[in-house]
Amino acid sequence: MKKIIIAIDGFAATGKSTLAKKISTSLGYVYIDTGAMYRTVTYFGQQQNSGNSIDLEQLVDSLSQIKIYFKNSDHEQQIFLNDENVSLKIRDSKVNNAVSDIASVKEIRDFLVAQQRQMGKGKGIVMDGRDIGTVVFPKAECKFFLTASPEIRARRRHKEQLEVGNLESFEAVIENVKARDYKDSTRLINPLRKAESATEIEVSNLSIEEVYQKMITQINYTIRV
Ligand code: C5P
Repeated sequence: MKKIIIAIDGFAATGKSTLAKKISTSLGYVYIDTGAMYRTVTYFGQQQNSGNSIDLEQLVDSLSQIKIYFKNSDHEQQIFLNDENVSLKIRDSKVNNAVSDIASVKEIRDFLVAQQRQMGKGKGIVMDGRDIGTVVFPKAECKFFLTASPEIRARRRHKEQLEVGNLESFEAVIENVKARDYKDSTRLINPLRKAESATEIEVSNLSIEEVYQKMITQINYTIRV
């Protein structure tokens, strides 16, 4: 069967990662969470300054020291920074609050986009992020763009955060979601945009299963024609 590239973009906490994982499992494709890559660079920058604010110049100068890779264990994908498993550390509020500023820096985007393109060279990949259908793989055979109201997205994210022991308030979560949406959509380099050929899905009133069915129907059609 023909192998394709599936690009899933959209606002924070729309269920992109859950859907991308589910689709990759059902097709036997590789799944790449590009948000985790931006988070990992952010975490690296914070560690350079003993967990304090990031020195951008120093971070850009040391990009060549950053090796990011994914490993699949049972049902979960783990992300490594050099040899450290940072999968949980990159989800904390400190990274949440800094990542969109780091993701707006050209050198950092160039560094990660080059790696993402390399990962998708052999096709058979599901990649989620903000600029996958517009910049990383503008020729992806299947593109989706997910949206939902900020309240619904923040409720989802707040629940997930509580499950991993992060006790942030709902107000703090919704503020972060809105701030990231704003920064991601208004930055000068590769802003969050719906690709022209992407299928937009408003997920506010749909279950993950319902969204999945919409997506997989289109994907199966694309693979067969
Ligand atoms: O997907 P996630 O919410 O984990 O992404 C974290 C942040 O990384 C986003 O808010 C955005 O600033 C940045 N990002 C990006 N481009 C991507 C993926 C994520 O700018 N392709």
